[in-house]
Amino acid sequence: MKTRGNELKKCVLCGGKIRKEKRSYDLRIGDDVYRIKEVPMEVCNKCEEEYLAPETSRKIDEAKEKIRENKIKAIQTGSIYETALA
Ligand SMILES: [Zn+2]
Repeated sequence: MKTRGNELKKCVLCGGKIRKEKRSYDLRIGDDVYRIKEVPMEVCNKCEEEYLAPETSRKIDEAKEKIRENKIKAIQTGSIYETALA
């Protein structure tokens, strides 16, 4: 996941073609994960690297602030259980 600068024509990692897609973005706040749905991204066809436009990245930062201030409603859909390999 990268925040891009100018409009992307090719993937900066592998030179692959870029497609536009809406994907979920997992925002971590402390030990919690907030899944933001339908985030517009640019995704490389070859290596699947995801790029965010600067304005999208800014909106995610704003959402993070709003979540911290309890200004955005989020619904809990599951829990994370941690374990380790034996
Ligand atoms: Zn790529």
